[in-house]
Amino acid sequence: MQDATVGTVVTLAGVRIARFSSDGAEPRFGLVGTADGVEVVATLAGDPMYAGVELTGDRHPVEDVRLLAPVIPRSKVVGIGRNYAEHAAELAHELPDQPLIFLKPNTSVIGPGDPIVYPAATSDLHHEGELAVVIGRICKDVAVERVAEVVRGYTVANDVTARDLQKQDATWARAKGYDSFCPIGPWIETDLDVSDLRITTTVGDEVRQDGRTSLMIFDVPTLVSYVSSVMTLLPGDLILTGTPAGVGPMVVGDRVSVTVDGIGTLVNPVVAHD
Ligand code: MG
Repeated sequence: MQDATVGTVVTLAGVRIARFSSDGAEPRFGLVGTADGVEVVATLAGDPMYAGVELTGDRHPVEDVRLLAPVIPRSKVVGIGRNYAEHAAELAHELPDQPLIFLKPNTSVIGPGDPIVYPAATSDLHHEGELAVVIGRICKDVAVERVAEVVRGYTVANDVTARDLQKQDATWARAKGYDSFCPIGPWIETDLDVSDLRITTTVGDEVRQDGRTSLMIFDVPTLVSYVSSVMTLLPGDLILTGTPAGVGPMVVGDRVSVTVDGIGTLVNPVVAHD
């Protein structure tokens, strides 16, 4: 973590931005790092997406706080379908010749530890572990070589999908749009080379997905540029970059972990609908 004194505005290079609550207080943002061998979160004065980075001097051990979704997108979560060849093959799909994009509502976003609620309408709920891009600036028509300027950082996502509903419906709004279908976290890593990171998804003790971002059909700069050619991207928007092979069912009672090396692990339980 950056060494900064209270009231100092520091740069955002190479930090982990978390959103958290402690002692039942309102959610706050913080920088995650290590102090005296303990993982801590150092509280920020406001939302670093809009207010810069100003430390308050307040710190908590990470294990004493509740980590929340590190960002709540104000406008949208953009998903990318079939961006890994082996995953497209396991679902018997042709490879796309340009990125296949879809939307998940921002109301689907939940944080680390929050429950994925198994809808009554599905009987085939799948995990899709993914790298997520967090947009930092309003942008449109971003050239591939300038994408780094509009990316705030990266987090881990689970693009939860009701596979049976995805097959029933002509669009994916329902299959991917239920509340709780977009777990993200545990924080935003702001300085990371994402060209070749391992992504693993574990259900219970079973490793289901074990892929690398280098296997993407369209890489992160290409995806961000492409999506921005369609729609204006706003600070806090997310782009989920597609899932490697190995998607499969989750059942009530499962604990699902998605790990992206260099970022961290996102864990969520699956619970029954009321
Ligand atoms: Mg996906």
